[in-house]
Amino acid sequence: MLNTLRKIVQEVNSAKDLKAALTIIVQRVKEAMGSQVCSVYLLDTETNRFVLMATEGLNKRSIGKVSMAPSEGLVGLVGTREEPLNLEDAASHPRFRYFAETGEERYASFLGAPIIHHRRVVGVLVIQQKERRQFDEGEEAFLVTMSAQLAGVIAHAEATGSIRGLGKQGKGIQEAKFIGVAGSPGAAVGTAVVVLPPADLEVVPDKAVDDIAAELQLFNQALERVREDMRALSAKLATQLRPEERALFDVYLMMLDDAALGSEVTTVIKTGQWAQGALRQVVGEHVNRFELMDDAYLRERASDVKDLGRRLLAYLQQERQQSLVYPDNTILVSEELSPAMLGEVPAGKLVGLVSVLGSGNSHVAIFARAMGIPTVMGAVDLPYSKIDGIQLIVDGYHGEVFTNPSEVLRKQYAEVVEEERQLTQGLSALRALPCETLDGHRMPLWVNTGLLADVVRAQERGAEGVGLYRTEVPFMIKDRFPSEKEQLAIYREQLAAFHPLPVTMRSLDIGGDKALSYFPIKEDNPFLGWRGIRVTLDHPEIFLVQTRAMLKASEGLDNLRILLPMISGTRELEEALHLIHRAWGEVRDEGADVLLPPVGVMIEIPAAVYQVRELARQVDFLSVGSNDLTQYLLAVDRNNPRVADLYDFLHPAVLQALRMVVDGAHAEGKPVSICGEMAGDPSAAVLLMAMGFDSLSMNATNLPKVKWLLRQISLSKAKELLAQLMAIDNPQVTHSTLHLALRNLGLSRVLNPASAIQA
Ligand code: PEP
Ligand code: MG
Repeated sequence: MLNTLRKIVQEVNSAKDLKAALTIIVQRVKEAMGSQVCSVYLLDTETNRFVLMATEGLNKRSIGKVSMAPSEGLVGLVGTREEPLNLEDAASHPRFRYFAETGEERYASFLGAPIIHHRRVVGVLVIQQKERRQFDEGEEAFLVTMSAQLAGVIAHAEATGSIRGLGKQGKGIQEAKFIGVAGSPGAAVGTAVVVLPPADLEVVPDKAVDDIAAELQLFNQALERVREDMRALSAKLATQLRPEERALFDVYLMMLDDAALGSEVTTVIKTGQWAQGALRQVVGEHVNRFELMDDAYLRERASDVKDLGRRLLAYLQQERQQSLVYPDNTILVSEELSPAMLGEVPAGKLVGLVSVLGSGNSHVAIFARAMGIPTVMGAVDLPYSKIDGIQLIVDGYHGEVFTNPSEVLRKQYAEVVEEERQLTQGLSALRALPCETLDGHRMPLWVNTGLLADVVRAQERGAEGVGLYRTEVPFMIKDRFPSEKEQLAIYREQLAAFHPLPVTMRSLDIGGDKALSYFPIKEDNPFLGWRGIRVTLDHPEIFLVQTRAMLKASEGLDNLRILLPMISGTRELEEALHLIHRAWGEVRDEGADVLLPPVGVMIEIPAAVYQVRELARQVDFLSVGSNDLTQYLLAVDRNNPRVADLYDFLHPAVLQALRMVVDGAHAEGKPVSICGEMAGDPSAAVLLMAMGFDSLSMNATNLPKVKWLLRQISLSKAKELLAQLMAIDNPQVTHSTLHLALRNLGLSRVLNPASAIQA
C-alpha cells in the first residue's frame, strides 16, 4: 500500500496543473482500489459549493457542472462532518441526492473521505461501486490516507493555478491571498524577485524568455563545462578506481550527449522556457521515470541524473547570479530566506520579504525587524517558484501575501505604507526625550544589534545602550572563523560607536537555526542540541579567542559587558566564568590594560528560571531571552510555521516565568533585562515594565513605538493591567483584554496601521 501511495503522490506532484493532477488522482485511485468510480469534488470558496472537478466512471460531461452546497448530498455531508462515510446502499441514506447528469444511479455503495488542508476542508474524494457492499477497513484506511496525502498537493496545485501564466508571463490578472505568519510588521507593495538556494533543481521556477538563442548558448556553455569536469574527475580518479567503476563517468558523458538530456533540454528551451526551467523539467521527468522502476539498480540511476542536473544548474546559476537585477520596490521571495540573502539587495531597493519556511521567531525574521522590512514567514502554500516578476503585497502585520493585487487593494496598502512612514517620522521627535511614564518612572530602552546598519539606526533613535550584540552575525557572513585580530576590529567598532553607553556582547550563539557554512552542525533536533554555550564550552579555543578579542577591544573604553547564552545550570556558568578569567589573565599578561567586565547570563532555558537565584548570585546581571524561553516552555519550535499560532509570549505560563525571574534577580540584588523580541512589542513592553524589568532591549525599529507608548501610560496603570492579566488562564483572553485596555486608553495608534483593511 505504501508503495502505491508513494507512486501516486509522486506522479500527482509532477502534474503540470490542477486539472492534470486531479485526472491522475481519479485514474490511479480507481485502479488501486479496483472500484468502478473515483471522483474528486473541490470546495469553491466563492460559491461555497462542492464542485465535481474530475471523475473516472461518472459521466465526464458533468465535470464542472454538478455541484452541491455543504448541506446537500452525501458529498456535502462528508465535507461538513469532516469524517469518512462508508455506505453499502447510498440511495437509502436520507442525505442521498441524485444528479441525473452523472449517471450515478447504477452505483450502490459509496465511500467518501474529506480532503483537509491546514484544518480547512478543500474537497471530498469519493469511490463508488455497483454491487451493494460495505468497503472494508483496509479500503477505508487507504482512501483516508490518500486524501490526507493529496490535500497538500491539491492546495498547492490550486494555488499555482490561481497565479499561473500571469504577471510578466501572461494576462488575466487575478488576485490571490496566501496566509503565512507575521514576520516583521509593516506593509509593502512591490515586485517579487525569487532567490533560489544554490543548485537546488527542484525549486527552479518557470520563466518565459524572448531571447531563445541566448538561453541555448548559456545551456551549451554549461554542458561543455560539466563535460570538462567529468573528464577531469575521471582522469583524477584513474589511479584509485577500477576501469569498470570509472565507466560511470562515461555514462554521465553519454547522458549529457546531444542525443539524450542535452537535446531534450534544448527542445524545451526552444518553446520559450529559460534554460534552468527546461533543465528542471527534463531532469524531473527522467528522475521520476527511474524512481518508479522496480529494479533497485535502475532506481539508483535517478540520483545520477539528479547529480548531473545539479552540476549543470550550478553553472547556469553562476551566469545568472551576475546578471540578477533588483527592480525598485523589490520583494525578496525564497523557500528559506537567509540573512545573507538580505545583504545582496542594493540599499534602498528592498521593501519586503517572503519566506515559505520559518516563523516569526526565526533569526531571519529578527533581522528583518531590525532592518524595518515588512516580512511574511511560513507562507507554506505560496507556489513561490512561479511568481518571479509579478506584483505582490506583503502584509507583515497579519502575515499575508497577495499576488497580483487589484488596483483597489494596491491603493489601500499604499496608504498604509504612507501612514507608517508618517508615524515613524512623527515618532522621531521622541529621540531626545527620556522614556519616562506619566508618573515619572524611568525605563531604560536599549537596542539589539548585529548588523552594521543597526548602529546608525540605534543612534538615530536614541538608544541608551546595547542590551544584546549578536556576535554570531559577523561570523555568519564570513567563510571561515574570523581571527582574533579580525574580531577585535569588529568589536572595537561596536564599542566605540556607542561609547560611553554600555554594550552587551553575547558569546557566540550558533546552532539551532543559526548555521555557519564552514562549521556545519547536522542534528535531528537542532534546538535541543548542540547550541550556544554548549558548542563554545566544547571548543574552548573558540570561546577564548572571542573573549580575548572582546576584552582587548574594550581597552580604554570600558563599556563592555559579556553575556552567556543557553545556560542551563551553574556548572556551565562556572566553566564559562573560568574561561573568561583565564582570557582576562592572558590579555593582561600581554600588556592590555582592561577591567574585568560585568558578566551576565541569559535566562532562556526553563531550568534557568528555576535556578535563577543560584545563577544570579554568581553574575553581575541577568537578561531574559524570551524568544527561546517561550519555545522551550511551550515546546513550540520557534521556526516551524505549522505551530506558529501556538507560539505566544503572552501565554500565562510565560508571564509567570518572567515574573519569577524578575523577583529572583532582585532578591539577589541583581539587575535584570529582557532582550527577546517581546521587549520590542509595545503592548508587551507595558507589562514587562510593570513586572519590574530594569531595562528593555529591542530592535531599533520598534524602539520609538515602545517609547511613545510608555510615555503615555503611568506605572501604576501598567501594574493594574498586569495584575488583571496575570489572573487570566487563557492566552486568547489575555490578548484581547490587553488590546482592549490599550484601546480604551486611546493608545492603540502604534499597534497596527493595517487593521482597517482587514476589518
Ligand atoms: C532569545 O532567545 O530571546 C534571544 C534574545 O536570543 P536569540 O533570539 O538570538 O536566540
Ligand atoms: Mg536565544
